[in-house]
Amino acid sequence: MRLTPAVIRSKLGYFSMEIGLDPRIRTYSGGLGVLAGDTLRSAADLHAPMVGVTLLHRNGYMRQSLGADGMQQDAPYPWNPAEMLEPLERQISIRIEGREVRIRAWRFMVAGVTGHTIPVYFLDTDVDGNDAWDRTLTGQLYGGDARYRLCQEVVLGVGGVAILQALGHGPDLQYHMNEGHSALLTLALLQRQTRARGLRTFTDADVEAVRSRCIFTTHTPVPAGHDKFALDLVQQVLGQEQAEVLQKLECVHEGRLNMTHVALRFSRYINGVAMLHGEVSRDMFPRFPVNAITNGVHAVHWTSAPFRKLFDQHISQWRRDNLYLRYALKIPTDEIRSTHAEAKRTLVDEIEQRTGVRFDPDAFTIGYARRATVYKRGNLIFSDTDRLRRISREVGKLQLVYAGKAHPQDAAGKEMIRSIFEAGEELRGDVEIVFLENYDMNLALKYVAGVDLWLNTPRRPQEASGTSGMKAALNGVPSLSVLDGWWVEGHQEGVTGWAFGDCPGCDADTPGEIASLYDKLENVIVPLYYGKQEEFAHVMRNAIALNGSFFNTQRMLLQYLTNAYFPPDHQPAVPQPEAAPARG
Ligand SMILES: *Cc1c(COP(=O)(O)O)cnc(C)c1O
Repeated sequence: MRLTPAVIRSKLGYFSMEIGLDPRIRTYSGGLGVLAGDTLRSAADLHAPMVGVTLLHRNGYMRQSLGADGMQQDAPYPWNPAEMLEPLERQISIRIEGREVRIRAWRFMVAGVTGHTIPVYFLDTDVDGNDAWDRTLTGQLYGGDARYRLCQEVVLGVGGVAILQALGHGPDLQYHMNEGHSALLTLALLQRQTRARGLRTFTDADVEAVRSRCIFTTHTPVPAGHDKFALDLVQQVLGQEQAEVLQKLECVHEGRLNMTHVALRFSRYINGVAMLHGEVSRDMFPRFPVNAITNGVHAVHWTSAPFRKLFDQHISQWRRDNLYLRYALKIPTDEIRSTHAEAKRTLVDEIEQRTGVRFDPDAFTIGYARRATVYKRGNLIFSDTDRLRRISREVGKLQLVYAGKAHPQDAAGKEMIRSIFEAGEELRGDVEIVFLENYDMNLALKYVAGVDLWLNTPRRPQEASGTSGMKAALNGVPSLSVLDGWWVEGHQEGVTGWAFGDCPGCDADTPGEIASLYDKLENVIVPLYYGKQEEFAHVMRNAIALNGSFFNTQRMLLQYLTNAYFPPDHQPAVPQPEAAPARG
């Protein structure tokens, strides 16, 4: 491999268990991975000195197929790295359960809007000489048991630090942990810091030196969502010495290592992913200073072809500087409407091709697509099917499109999908409902651009941010959502979209909340769509101008650069001189 000047100058290692760069690179499962991919795309646009690190996940996440009754079948979803990535010669090795595990990397170059590229490394343990079990460690995203998961996290964190060093990134690197899965990178840094003396001799100054170089973004507002591992497993995988050090650092609670606490303990900058999520995280971790930087999406990537063309015509600089999307306010509403109609036709065709069902391109179409997990309540709108039917019959015809995978071990998520099928059967003839299999980034773009309303129904405050509504906004599609995550900030009632469940007596899962959802559809949104098209188009345009211009990863990354990576008053500690270079 040739080290280009751009590679050598890299100053930020961005670590994520999943990264979604291209639907053919099946190393993502949902929002976390898509956010990581969008972040790296914006880093390339802005020439930010960033390099990405993740695992290869040769078998992908999973392939979803659905039976006629809506039962999800999951299968491995292998892909061929050689078609998409460049294999690198260099190998490094780390210790897992006392064994030496060799790791190599595959590289993908993310190209930005000016053609500037930044590398992403996909770590691979399927290397000759490795033990058969170790060869599987970079096989399956979120698969296997706790042992498999912890070993994967060692590969990502410890292996990632070693590979970046071996490839010439650093030594003045900073490390950004996108969620706690990569938190063991901090232990690898502490080990380097104390190399001459032994890890057990670490001091407060050593911890401080590691802290000065680490940034942590937490994504999960529910304590149960944080990775935890039994102490005896940690001892088995990492060894006695490292387990002891983690205990001394108060990362072990009630006999379990908490990866979020590892990341919190070792990071000088910690943030949640929306303002409300920052508040919730401060309550969860009162001993730590938790900031908030609201997520975004990559504006160009998540704008459909028809809207890209429209923006190019009216806002020449929007690709380079997303803030200019504010001036979508001057685009005539008839052009917004005809452009949306084009995106809607693309979706209608896709639905017909996949299911044989022909949607009515003039009927009000509601979209919902995201991971099928219980807190997101994908079937909330079917709480009262009679009322939904009545709205469709009496106020204006409704159509619904669904997609989303349940984690293979999430029986309740699978049941939720099945119940959506059941509702579809029940409402047939009155409300057309389709569920498209095997949701991915390609389908996501067609969905968010082609529907008339993007529905979001999480149980507050469990949606840390949510991003698909931001994608919809870029395409002139307003949201109807619970006031959670980003929508607390992006919502202006009747201006950028609508909220429900924000009335007295409307707490989550109460009849009041569900009634408020139907009330909003019946009394406000559906009549507006069918009766006041010009007013509806104003909301569409505001979604682009007010929300598309802000809820993008360009603004987000600029906030990370200003507040987290390179705040004017911060100097990362000078790392210890390297002893021997990494083996391999
Ligand atoms: C954007 C996206 C998500 C995340 O959607 P949320 O609204 O944040 O839940 C999940 N999966 C895919 C394929 C996406 O493109």
